[in-house]
Amino acid sequence: MIISPDTRVAVVTGASSGIGEATARTLADQGFHVVIGARRVDRLEKIAGDIGGTALELDVTDDDSVDAFTAVLPRVDVLVNNAGGAKGLAPVLDADLDDWRWMWETNVLGTLRVTRALLPKLVDSGNGLIVTITSVAALEAYDNGAGYTSAKHAQAVLHRTLRGELLGKPVRLTEVAPGAVETEFSLVRFEGDKERADKVYEGITPLVAADVADIIGFVASRPSHVNIDQIVVKPRDQASSGRFHRTT
Ligand code: NAP
Repeated sequence: MIISPDTRVAVVTGASSGIGEATARTLADQGFHVVIGARRVDRLEKIAGDIGGTALELDVTDDDSVDAFTAVLPRVDVLVNNAGGAKGLAPVLDADLDDWRWMWETNVLGTLRVTRALLPKLVDSGNGLIVTITSVAALEAYDNGAGYTSAKHAQAVLHRTLRGELLGKPVRLTEVAPGAVETEFSLVRFEGDKERADKVYEGITPLVAADVADIIGFVASRPSHVNIDQIVVKPRDQASSGRFHRTT
């Protein structure tokens, strides 16, 4: 990867769709060279072509994949920990351990693997920024959601811990906690069941990925002494994880 020495580099994980893709486009518009990672490389290559960025295969649940991804980055100014998601919606009594493992491996250990590997480069940049996409599920528990809410709480605590551990180092930390955003999130959660996924957004005006990307763009363009610690963003039609105003 050849990048001129004065070009700032942003890394976005899980950038093959949804919030990650929109964030990659926003940060590229701001002048960053954006390195995008995910498992679906065909999609990444198209996006990288659009934004003049770099597409690299990345599976955040795999140590070797994370090592290979992070080793080739010449510098890192911004890291957006976005790769993640949910599987299933089941009461604790019926918890599927494979679903829980997927959610903890992707959201929690995935964020840990990538962040730990890139921290030295973020510090070396002299003005690093880590944005982690958690969720309103990181702020409250909801029925049938313990696999996801517990993973998002853990991911958020990992991120918030760094705010203290990195005090005195030139790295800022921002947690963005969205409510309902219409992406592939629900399709993944319900194993491709489109009818069930569509019901999540029925009768509300959900956020779209670009709404969250706008916020990340705002965060990344603040002066280096300004740390925005946490932003919670929900559709107007959503009061809490489980409370919506629906017109249908
Ligand atoms: P999405 O459209 O399903 O995007 C998820 C992204 O994560 C995809 O690019 C996917 O790419 C990537 N990903 C999944 N597993 C991965 C792995 N093992 N390694 C690397 N990349 C992986 O959903 P989204 O809504 O944009 O989700 C982005 C983040 O926002 C997630 O952390 C999610 O928990 C959070 N969030 C979403 C909502 C919502 O309502 N949509 C609300 C709050 C928070 P590949 O499949 O190509 O690997």
